[in-house]
Amino acid sequence: MNTTTATLPDSASHTYEQVATASNEVAGLLAKRLKTETQGEVLFSTADRGRYATDASIYQVTPLGVFVPQHAEEVATAMAICRDLKVPIVPRGGGTSQCGQTTGVGLVIDHSKYVRNILNLDLQAGTVEVQPGMVLDSLNASLKKYGVWFPVDVSTSAQATLGGMAGNNSCGSRSIAYGNMVHNVVGAKAWLSNGDLLDFSQFENSTGRAKEIGEFVKQLAVHHQAELQTHWPKVLRRVAGYNLDIFDNQNERPYTADGKVNLSHLLVGSEGTLAMTQSLTLRLSELATAKVLGVVNFNSFHKAMDSAQHIVKLGNGSLTAVELVDRTMIDLSLKIPAFAPTIRTAIIGEPEAILLVEFAGTDKEKLKRELKQLVALMGDMGLPNSVVEMVDDAPQKNLWEVRKAGLNIMMSLKGDGKPVSFIEDCAVPLEHLAEYTDALTQVFQKHGTKGTWYAHASVGTLHVRPILDMRRDGPLKMRAIAEEASALVRKFKGAYSGEHGDGLCRGEWIEWQFGPALQQAFAQIKKHLDPLNLLSPNRMVNPPKMDDTSLMRFGNNYKIIPIQTALDWSAWNVHNDAATEQTTLPGTGQDPAQGLAKAVEMCNNNGTCRKFDTGTMCPSFRVTRDEVHATRGRANTLRLALSGQLQGGLESPEVKEAMDLCVGCKGCKRDCPTGVDMARMKIEVQHHYNEKHGLQLKDTLISNLPRYAHIASQWPGLMNLRNQSPLLAKLAESLTGLSAERSWPEWKKNHFFNGPRVGVSAEEVLKASKPVVLFVDTFNGYFESENAWAAHDVLSAAGYQVHIASRTKQDTPGQHLCCGRTYLASGQVSKAKEYAQALLEALLPFAQKGIAIVGLEPSCLLTLRDESLVMGLGEMADTVAAHAVLFEEFLAAENKTGKLDLLKVKLAPAQKPILVHGHCHQKAFGLMPSVTQVIQLIPQAKVDLIESSCCGMAGSFGYEASHLEVSKQMAEANLLPSIRNNKDACVVADGTSCRHQIMDGTKRDAIHVAMLLAQHLIK
Ligand SMILES: Cc1cc2nc3c(=O)[nH]c(=O)nc-3n(C[C@H](O)[C@H](O)[C@H](O)COP(=O)(O)OP(=O)(O)OC[C@H]3O[C@@H](n4cnc5c(N)ncnc54)[C@H](O)[C@@H]3O)c2cc1C
Ligand code: SF4
Ligand code: SF4
Repeated sequence: MNTTTATLPDSASHTYEQVATASNEVAGLLAKRLKTETQGEVLFSTADRGRYATDASIYQVTPLGVFVPQHAEEVATAMAICRDLKVPIVPRGGGTSQCGQTTGVGLVIDHSKYVRNILNLDLQAGTVEVQPGMVLDSLNASLKKYGVWFPVDVSTSAQATLGGMAGNNSCGSRSIAYGNMVHNVVGAKAWLSNGDLLDFSQFENSTGRAKEIGEFVKQLAVHHQAELQTHWPKVLRRVAGYNLDIFDNQNERPYTADGKVNLSHLLVGSEGTLAMTQSLTLRLSELATAKVLGVVNFNSFHKAMDSAQHIVKLGNGSLTAVELVDRTMIDLSLKIPAFAPTIRTAIIGEPEAILLVEFAGTDKEKLKRELKQLVALMGDMGLPNSVVEMVDDAPQKNLWEVRKAGLNIMMSLKGDGKPVSFIEDCAVPLEHLAEYTDALTQVFQKHGTKGTWYAHASVGTLHVRPILDMRRDGPLKMRAIAEEASALVRKFKGAYSGEHGDGLCRGEWIEWQFGPALQQAFAQIKKHLDPLNLLSPNRMVNPPKMDDTSLMRFGNNYKIIPIQTALDWSAWNVHNDAATEQTTLPGTGQDPAQGLAKAVEMCNNNGTCRKFDTGTMCPSFRVTRDEVHATRGRANTLRLALSGQLQGGLESPEVKEAMDLCVGCKGCKRDCPTGVDMARMKIEVQHHYNEKHGLQLKDTLISNLPRYAHIASQWPGLMNLRNQSPLLAKLAESLTGLSAERSWPEWKKNHFFNGPRVGVSAEEVLKASKPVVLFVDTFNGYFESENAWAAHDVLSAAGYQVHIASRTKQDTPGQHLCCGRTYLASGQVSKAKEYAQALLEALLPFAQKGIAIVGLEPSCLLTLRDESLVMGLGEMADTVAAHAVLFEEFLAAENKTGKLDLLKVKLAPAQKPILVHGHCHQKAFGLMPSVTQVIQLIPQAKVDLIESSCCGMAGSFGYEASHLEVSKQMAEANLLPSIRNNKDACVVADGTSCRHQIMDGTKRDAIHVAMLLAQHLIK
């Protein structure tokens, strides 16, 4: 053994407190050995450790380092090194735990990047063996073709790993039908901390050490039979403590169908404290092919809660969910234009609560009869005509989406008070649900706060998060509410931890729940399996207090360093009232970073940005699977920088690294549940970085394009030489960092801005009956003028008098207008403001008259509705924003009011199928439906939307040599294969860089929707 380690205390539990603070030497050794003995990623920088110091809980504990194994065997190697050096280990999957399970000193081992394969699929046995880092949705996507699925459908299914789900004994919305993780795991291979790899499966067939462990736990269960009977909650949803009851079942639903003991169940819910999972064998269920939904409307919340116990008896086994949506959520959904129509289809009058009652199976007709029984039951209970019956799939799917989104809105409260998860998942027997929720509501009121209720009424687990300010009196209130909630749980014989586990938040409640004798038994189990106390020590045994503020993200010493921001972040700089959720005026929140810190702190680490399903967020994570390159990793890095936990603050290389692969797609602005807008943050951060480090040549070259475009376009031969000469391209790459592999946009002598003038004058359009103003941006104006002409032609054909917006003052070179996007992209806010100001001044007279300002390039036009509003440009920015619309948005809206009849008769039928790729900013603003609607103006148009994230070009991002590979991977994720697979389709893409990427990757021309319409105009 090395001399340094010889001086260390004997077990990891002793080093637990010291290791994070004192052991640079240990950290150095650990990192060195991991680097030499494995091929995994060894992440020991302050920023990396900071990013792994948090999960979706309120806690923050900085680990010694992070290890991302390339292969499963490397986990064993890392464990051996930790054993030698007596460094604790914290296993981790997606890091979406709500109780701090994945925060701890020691070495965090992140399984999610590489250790994520299916090892064995046995359809005959109905099982699958998977590695722990596999994400649930990705498993189910692979299983779909076989008509089976793994049915523990947690809300975080798009990012939760099966190892993490087993660690937490996770439960899905449909647990009433399928049970929790523990009911669906049938085997586990796992390493003990001494390095033994054991097969945890059927006890009666087990041998060796596994058998011996089973015997040991069995003895404990026998010894504690009386305590088990007395203290163990008799509900389905109990996830606290170790599953000692595998030998004396206390669960409402037996863990195994045949009553035999399965030793893997001891590990389920042990939160990584007993063994490190190498693989899990899971029992699969048949995929339901038919579903019906009954939405029961209640005029009192109490009645809804009281009814759940009767509803769950319906269905003869086909009832799969009874989910609650309360009045607050209904109201929130009604305020969102996208969701209001859907929620209206589900409600009758103004209900105080609705229950979504789902029946699933294979025979729709049979399910319809179950639905009728629900209707009859509600009639018997004095609620005739209270059920909305949804038999078709589409309305059901839409309603489930609203239920999810409602939670997201609740999470997006601005200000320091946030909905905090600590009693979110207490489970009570159904007959007490109504009384429990009434009593807890009163507890909240007493403490000056309130909670919104939602989720799993079927199993007595209703989620509720009171709003608390964890920087001020939050911890005190948290303790008080927890004490009172626990008394209620005890009164109703429920489970204090019913879904989200123990971690730091509920560890201290294990003894409260089970009593000292069972807690002692748990301690014996821990000691027997992990005598070195190496695996997540001081969590389920000897845990700290839940309100220990030294373990919290916004603990005692949390302070924001004052900075002057370039953009206006005042919308986030507010206080809120926990009881009313009202926020104070923008700018009054006393954030020393003028609101930027509060905007960054909106990230609550829930990990949705690690998803791979539909939506845009987050392209750089999708291709790298690196925490640093997820929106969450970026937000955490910025929070550390702004709060002085990262040396060098916003100008540090660590912040630069975290922001480097952010393509500014605004996917997070829309898809992140709390609306973290990293694209805007990137502009701010680059501004600060430039102030300290200056601009790079490539940024100067690209950002100034609008400034020199009018000159460059006079010398197209010269300017385009670089594209024709590989030598020049190489030279340009070495000078600018712009890849020689990429062609640059081609300059043209004749372009829109020097071509024949089209459109009517400003005076004419102000008086016109069908006026519209066309804003032609730098890219469409100089490089793809045909789009601008096409837009003019289509609008004119539709009977509009089109005015081409132009500069009102000639105070900067060039004639054309520009939104300043190229400057924003490199953080040059003041230069962007110059251009945006000129643009706004030119557009203002038309906006004031209510005339629509139509743009073609999504990133340019939408700047008017986004960044222009936070650059200090005053009221004119709001006025113009209110009238700025994309070409397709304008036409889609006009069509709805019957103003396109003239155009429609002039369009020839489509000859080819049409494939559409949306620009990220179009998607971020929810504008894709208008693109498809406009294309459908063309007779016989058959439109398909590509399920793509960012194209990877993203302005200048994909042109840069350092980003070339990532850029290509983003495009190859879905976009380019979809185009290659549709050889005959006409490809529509409204973004200029998207079109470029498509051409580079497939040699296919993609066209703007304006061009598509123009091509179909009957001459
Ligand atoms: C918005 C939101 C909604 C949620 N909804 C649900 C829900 O519907 N139902 C539900 O049950 N939970 C829910 N959760 C909690 C959480 O998402 C789940 O518990 C999820 O299963 C955790 O998966 P993960 O991959 O993020 O695990 P992590 O958080 O990374 O880890 C979970 C536990 O497993 C341990 N672990 C991970 N890998 C291993 C391994 N290889 N060996 C041993 N131990 C390991 C960790 O140490 C930790 O203790 C929700 C969380 C959020 C933020
Ligand atoms: S950035 Fe948004 S989606 Fe990602 S973890 Fe933070 S809050 Fe969740
Ligand atoms: S802007 Fe796009 S790339 Fe950047 S963090 Fe958000 S989703 Fe990810």
